[in-house]
Amino acid sequence: MKTIGLIGGMSWESSLEYYRLINQLTRDRLGGQNNAQTLMVTVNFHDIERMQREGRWDDAGAALAQAGSQLERGGADFIVLCTNTMHKVAPAIEAVVSIPLLHIASATAQRVVAAGVRRVGLLATAYTMEQDFYKGMLRDRFALEVLVPDAEDRAIVHAVIYDELCLGLIKESSRRAYAQIMAKLEARGAQGIILGCTEIALLVKPQDSRLPQFDTTRIHCETAVERALA
Ligand code: GLU
Repeated sequence: MKTIGLIGGMSWESSLEYYRLINQLTRDRLGGQNNAQTLMVTVNFHDIERMQREGRWDDAGAALAQAGSQLERGGADFIVLCTNTMHKVAPAIEAVVSIPLLHIASATAQRVVAAGVRRVGLLATAYTMEQDFYKGMLRDRFALEVLVPDAEDRAIVHAVIYDELCLGLIKESSRRAYAQIMAKLEARGAQGIILGCTEIALLVKPQDSRLPQFDTTRIHCETAVERALA
């Protein structure tokens, strides 16, 4: 079994899900007392979130590259970065390690394509919904058409992530707001929805939309376990 190296803490609410899912999936596959072999380096999201807001992506990249190096030195066979947004700085991590980084957008896009979905809605942080590092990969490498909510709804989705989900707050009013936003994406022609932030599945459930949902946290974990056991 390979050792999975996790860069966590963004937020730890979702890192906990990664830890739970990766071990659960390993037990499902191997049975008995089997669990995954993992290492996790947890960064302080207080610092990272501030770098995001101040546009200091080079600093954030350096911090996560350091975490990646720690994982490599600790014996990880590959890296799982437990956040969609911070894949903006995936190249900075890849530049300093010689082990592979299992990209969350690529893992997710493969599932979306396999499900026969071509036009997909994306719920995520404003950085992920508005910048090109993530949507660009879906479009250019997987020929997906990506729909994001309008500006007002993007602000709601973003605020719920940072002000609630990353702080462990799950609110019924926010679940209903996300359901409405997904319905609008469906009306615009989306055939599926990417839950493109690793905390969203803590809030949104399959019954909140008629469309298939692609939970990036679960997909990333499933892909990691497949690779660890290959
Ligand atoms: N976990 C979130 C994501 O998947 C947001 C927190 C962050 O900015 O890293 O994008």
